[in-house]
Amino acid sequence: MRFDASPVETEEGLPARFARHFLETHDAVVEEKPEGWDALLPGDLAQRLDLSELVSARRPAGARNPVLHIPETDQILPLGYGSPLVEKMIDIAADRSPMTVCRIHVDYLKKAGFDRAIAETFSFPNSVGVVESHAEARTEYSVFDCWYQARSDEQQEGMVALSFNLETGGPIPGMDGRLTGFSREFPPPDAVPPPARERFIQLLPLLQKALEDNIAGEIANFRDRMKRRYHRDIRHLSEYYGSLRREMEKSLERPGLTPASIAERKEKIALIPDELARKTDDLLKKYSIRTDVRPCAVMRILTPAVKILYKLVKGKAEKRVTLFYNPLVKAVDPFVCEGCGAGLYAVWLCDRLHVLCPDCRGRCPVCEGA
Ligand SMILES: [Zn+2]
Ligand SMILES: [Zn+2]
Repeated sequence: MRFDASPVETEEGLPARFARHFLETHDAVVEEKPEGWDALLPGDLAQRLDLSELVSARRPAGARNPVLHIPETDQILPLGYGSPLVEKMIDIAADRSPMTVCRIHVDYLKKAGFDRAIAETFSFPNSVGVVESHAEARTEYSVFDCWYQARSDEQQEGMVALSFNLETGGPIPGMDGRLTGFSREFPPPDAVPPPARERFIQLLPLLQKALEDNIAGEIANFRDRMKRRYHRDIRHLSEYYGSLRREMEKSLERPGLTPASIAERKEKIALIPDELARKTDDLLKKYSIRTDVRPCAVMRILTPAVKILYKLVKGKAEKRVTLFYNPLVKAVDPFVCEGCGAGLYAVWLCDRLHVLCPDCRGRCPVCEGA
């Protein structure tokens, strides 16, 4: 990050630039004027924003942010941080799950050495593999930017990016939508074939699983902190009730107690375990973690890749698996567990040759389900 000692603030402020960009991307026609800009809004947009179809942004002398003038009603609306109109635009923009398409051009695509690359990346504890063929192909990756929030006694929120190969459904670790260093092109959405709907639907349970795994990783420290506090509070609680009980039991030994007051004290002592259980339950509620997740943007990445037909041999049986060499992360994408959809580097085969992760290999979910 660079800090300028004396930033020159000649440009429009961010809220006004956002408002203008918002109008342009919602089909308004924006026209530059010497004193600001005018925008002609489609009727439905004007209605949603509670504006007239013609609005003019003008910057009052000395001000950084323009105001929006509505000629029809001669109304003036501010365009700054927190102004109701900008807030309304943010709400509308956040309401959509935008999908971007990005086409990648790759200068050099790996042409050989796939056997070696696979041998170095993967292990095959109960089979032997060999590349049968490979060819240049086009493939598609999807990057889901997801927002999450974990709530307990404290709160944590953040973003995770999850990527999948649309053809294999395999999760791609370490890939996000930034793609710096690649020649990229963003064609208009109607210039490329629409996403294969069924593929997206098939991806949803995998997305769910990948989200759970990733968020579990993201909030590991948060979870540990809550757990530590829970155990600390439980310890204090049981110490407190332990000493209370000892005190009350001791008081029973005092001389001169009437049978009625002995009975009353004993009754109170008998209530302690229930009281402790209730307080323990409250603590569990206080420290349990609820998570919320929302995918907020999807990027379709269309790219050349190398499609590899890989043969796995176990005993006398053979199985063929399609793999992709992914030029964006310069690696062969992980195998995909046929049981749970996890990406994997240690590849197990069941007796009927389903590709399985170490978790699923004990009991093949595909064979069990058959
Ligand atoms: Zn699995
Ligand atoms: Zn199986």
